[in-house]
Amino acid sequence: MSPQYSLHVLFIAGTRPEVIKLAPVLKAFALKDGVRVELCAAGQHKELLEQAFADFALSPEYRLDVMQPGQSLASLSGRLFHAFDRLLNDVQPDWVVVQGDTTSTMTAALCAFYKKIKVAHVEAGLRSHSLGAPFPEELNRRVTGIVADLHFAPTPRAQANLLQEGTPAERIKVTGNTVVDALRWIEKSCKDTNTLPRAIQELLQSGKRIVLVTGHRRESFGEGFKAISTAIRRLADQHVNTVFVYPVHLNPNVRKPVEELLAGHERILLLEPLSYKAFITLMKVCTLILTDSGGVQEEAPSLGKPVLLMREVTERPEGIEAGTTKLVGVDADQIEKEVSTLLDSPEALVAMTSVANPFGDGQASERIVAAIIEYKP
Ligand code: UDP
Repeated sequence: MSPQYSLHVLFIAGTRPEVIKLAPVLKAFALKDGVRVELCAAGQHKELLEQAFADFALSPEYRLDVMQPGQSLASLSGRLFHAFDRLLNDVQPDWVVVQGDTTSTMTAALCAFYKKIKVAHVEAGLRSHSLGAPFPEELNRRVTGIVADLHFAPTPRAQANLLQEGTPAERIKVTGNTVVDALRWIEKSCKDTNTLPRAIQELLQSGKRIVLVTGHRRESFGEGFKAISTAIRRLADQHVNTVFVYPVHLNPNVRKPVEELLAGHERILLLEPLSYKAFITLMKVCTLILTDSGGVQEEAPSLGKPVLLMREVTERPEGIEAGTTKLVGVDADQIEKEVSTLLDSPEALVAMTSVANPFGDGQASERIVAAIIEYKP
């Protein structure tokens, strides 16, 4: 390392949400003197990752080319282990910063551990307490937590989970979730709807209400996505003043059933994944959100939008306790009933908009950067 740097930090991002949630931390770090900050695109996602880099004007110093069509989790993990091993040999950072619960996160953390490089885990301590959901993310997050030197817990509940597992208290910092920092950063450029695709602008001009839909979870592949799509189609048939806008994830396990079951309906708009700026603008103008996403659950309360969560369990119960999120599972009848209740009752909608976001206050990145700089083993 060049002598003008006293600290060398390598960020690893393999998927879209990792880029979004690490971008504010990386930007805050880059403002500090004497710190060399680098970014590795682990390539677990390809196009979605590049789109997210563009959103935050980031250009990674390192890119791993690991993604293969139809890859199994084991083969992806194997390629990531090899690639991170070589990368860390070459780069030799003081810290590896990983985020959340992906296969990239888990493999990068383990490779850093093997080389005695310190690991900072952003968004640590979330637990569904079920290894089956989110799958395999619950396992990935737990494994990363075993080797992390610093655990950045977004909420007191995440901190409590870590303490209960025996993590030393001085290694845990409660910071808030960095997604709120990212949201605040991008929101400044989301003031008007001109950045939205033309089809959505036309919907807004015609006075239609929008239900925003996202879904990509592995545990819903197959029957789950069929049920979700069935529910959306039935809802679109019934609610003539509402359009269901769905930026469809690029995973073929998602795209195939969604396109087969939902394409061609006049009140269902299937879109390519949106830029972060366009997506947040769309969140701001929608009536409610039907999703299985982790990040969207955390962003929605800041924008006062109710979330119906298409999962059986969540590692983010704070939103449910605050009343901004409701678990609706992946059962077609249940999804249909819960969405209809909100669309038909303004009171029910208002009851699900909270004043304070339980996931963060927008200052998480500064807290994380300070803790890494001040770290004493
Ligand atoms: N997002 C986006 N464009 C889209 C859909 C989602 O930028 O078309 C953002 C969203 O605001 C959130 C993140 O991507 O910050 C969520 O990613 P995803 O649902 O893929 O992953 P998860 O959060 O479930 O891990």
